Amino acid sequence: MQPFFGDFASGTTGPPKNQAFIESGNRMSLFDWFADRRKEQSTGKVTQEPDEGDGLWSKCPECGLVVYLKDLRANASVCAGCSHHHRINSSERIAVIADPGSFEALNEELTPTDPLGFKDRRAYADRLRESQASTGLNDGVVTGLCRVEGLAMALAVMDFRFMGGSMGSVVGEKITRLIEVATEKRLPLLIVCASGGARMQEGMLSLMQMAKISGALERHRDSELLYMPLLTHPTTGGVTASFAMLGDLILAEPKALIGFAGRRVIEQTLREKLPDDFQTAEYLQDKGFVDTIVSRNQMRVTLASLLRLHGSRPMELAST
Ligand SMILES: [Zn+2]
Repeated sequence: MQPFFGDFASGTTGPPKNQAFIESGNRMSLFDWFADRRKEQSTGKVTQEPDEGDGLWSKCPECGLVVYLKDLRANASVCAGCSHHHRINSSERIAVIADPGSFEALNEELTPTDPLGFKDRRAYADRLRESQASTGLNDGVVTGLCRVEGLAMALAVMDFRFMGGSMGSVVGEKITRLIEVATEKRLPLLIVCASGGARMQEGMLSLMQMAKISGALERHRDSELLYMPLLTHPTTGGVTASFAMLGDLILAEPKALIGFAGRRVIEQTLREKLPDDFQTAEYLQDKGFVDTIVSRNQMRVTLASLLRLHGSRPMELAST
């Protein structure tokens, strides 16, 4: 979206120059111009506030605070005005959690195929290509080993930008392989969830991932190792119905939407009005589904103390 003042200065869409305007005696036109401008704003065509579209500014959707994107990023994309947690991508998430430079990715080469030749409004193959180009990722999860304040940990981070963080075969396989490595190396595990659910374009193959990951988690648990899911906005569908809810400790970010089916579906089924905070992290903590809500600014410190409490020790990652 074009910055408002840029347009104004260039005179391409701004009001006629005041001097010429007054000289023409056409005061009504100036009024009309402002009226049109308001109409455009209400239809979302033009914004007077700087937004993320111009690449420099970000406006908080909760409190309206406008800040430099650079300052927002420096604060882990948490609003300085109201603590709203803006959505972040997988590499930003890794930077928030892992010690700088400690993350070692695994199975980056795994790439999805289109086994069903699926096509809805658009072909699945096209959707994949588009997501890969826009994110630079092969699929919607990044997995690897890292250190948190020196303590070794296996880490998976789902990336909502990639087809809504949907769980297809590659997402399932990468998470499963990571859990198996964590079990073998006796490492604690954190999976950062951000997902719209199973990837319908892979049909049953995507649903199978729920059972496969849950099975691998069971073997990790049998080895008496710590598993923590971190539920971020939004965590829904098949991810909630499997590994997001299987943690020894279930962590969540403030105000994250966490649920299985959508609010409207549940309301229609129950024929009941649901509370306003239904399916928020706070509501789920109150009902005992979430153990603790951790602000992103406190994430690394909190994780490190949880790891220490569960007996983690500093260790080398490379070739361990
Ligand atoms: Zn805010």
